[in-house]
Amino acid sequence: MKLNLDIVPLNSWLDNGKEPLIISGPCSAETEEQLLATAKLLAATGKVSVLRAGIWKPRTRPGEFEGIGSIGLEWLKRAKEETGLPTAIEVATAKHVEEALAAGVDILWVGARSTANPFTVQEIADALQGADVPVLVKNPVNPDLSLWIGALERINRAGIKKLGAIHRGFSSFEKTSFRNEPMWDLAIQLKTVAPELPIINDPSHICGNRELIPYISQKALDLDMQGLMIESHLDPSVAWTDAKQQVTPAALAELVDRLALRKADS
Ligand code: PEP
Ligand code: MN
Repeated sequence: MKLNLDIVPLNSWLDNGKEPLIISGPCSAETEEQLLATAKLLAATGKVSVLRAGIWKPRTRPGEFEGIGSIGLEWLKRAKEETGLPTAIEVATAKHVEEALAAGVDILWVGARSTANPFTVQEIADALQGADVPVLVKNPVNPDLSLWIGALERINRAGIKKLGAIHRGFSSFEKTSFRNEPMWDLAIQLKTVAPELPIINDPSHICGNRELIPYISQKALDLDMQGLMIESHLDPSVAWTDAKQQVTPAALAELVDRLALRKADS
């Protein structure tokens, strides 16, 4: 079976078209200062093509920090003005899509919890009708390839041709070293049914712990994934969300250098 997706290649989405596409930035935008300082350090490394930051955060239990909200759109705009980096955020409702498009966010992604719910994906797709924005669809939390494919199809049918997938791993009852099991075979199956669809790996949410990130990143590139989304923070130890898995901008740059070297060696 091959999917019938109407898409354009990843290198036509952005001006520099560099592959692997490195997307980095904090799990959550916390303050304007934090976001701007992180963006500047990331831009200075020369290794990052897109700045990510969550402003509406899906949290497992209520009462935890649920994102800074719409004000974060202003901060992202400033970060882009000051660094030239295109920006990417998660959208989970039609309102998020409308606000993100109005604010000129460059890339949107659908989070793992949203991908698991076809009603939510359809609502996002409807709000995207007529937009020319790249959209990345994370795999659903549960290991169900059809749900992932269905979400990609819904977004593509809304006219989004700059489409990609993000492999962020899957929930499992097994206790292993990973926060979310990579289950590489599901990403490989997606590649075989949609060979032209870019897949970006998200080692941060697979690993849940920064020590493992280089290994998962390397494996993703060895499997010909076209990019990496890696969470970074000025001081990961005080991050408001996902503290254990974030890396400093300097560590991110070193990680990307090593991957490039190993790739060149092979
Ligand atoms: C995130 O990217 O910070 C996030 C919440 O990811 P996921 O949807 O993969 O859990
Ligand atoms: Mn996160």
